[in-house]
Amino acid sequence: MNKALQIALDGPAGAGKSTIAKSLAKKLGYVYIDTGAIYRAVTYRAIQDGVMLEDGPALAALISNMSIRLVPSEHGQRVFDGEVEVTDDIRSSEVTNNVSFVARQPEVRDALMDLQRDLAKDGGIVMDGRDIGTHVLPNADLKVFMTASVEERARRRHEENVSKGIPSDYEQLKEEIALRDKRDSERAVAPLRQAEDAHYLDTTELSIDGVVEAIEQLIGEVTA
Ligand code: C5P
Repeated sequence: MNKALQIALDGPAGAGKSTIAKSLAKKLGYVYIDTGAIYRAVTYRAIQDGVMLEDGPALAALISNMSIRLVPSEHGQRVFDGEVEVTDDIRSSEVTNNVSFVARQPEVRDALMDLQRDLAKDGGIVMDGRDIGTHVLPNADLKVFMTASVEERARRRHEENVSKGIPSDYEQLKEEIALRDKRDSERAVAPLRQAEDAHYLDTTELSIDGVVEAIEQLIGEVTA
């Protein structure tokens, strides 16, 4: 398997995309690109600078003054806004609960398209997001649409929080995840949707290893 593939992994919030993408990238010697982090970095900066989160033109102007960098590291992907590291700041619940408002502005999606395509252009990447298979990389070598029931996704996030000692409320998580899915699926531009040529993978009953194996099998088919 020599060709440096573009692998697109899309799906709703908390479906385990980043865990799977990270693991796959490591196995393949590929770079993992978390596009949600880009939307989060913009949201974080907009909150900091007091930019209205639904003002598309103002957000586009903000983006034109930002230099968002995703830097692979041993401990996962680090995120920089210029020289400032925002890797942890962009995971706050304030950012999580507001990012969909920013991401649904057409000016924002336009402004971030080239950056994402540029990151993927040489292949050898596993890119995760919501519209990678449908818009960002329509010619990706492999597209997977991963999902799981909202209960299972909330349960996983809850367990993760508890294991990290982060205060967590399962019912609240379930509500927040469902709301974010709704906003991401119902937006006018590049909504969360399975690409026609994507493989559908319901991970509700699967372990992490099981999902990775399933995708490795699909990679084998693509490269056979
Ligand atoms: O993947 P993550 O949950 O970090 O994504 C955060 C948010 O960024 C999503 O809820 C969605 O609103 C937005 N997003 C997007 N398109 C992508 C990736 C993320 O709209 N390709």
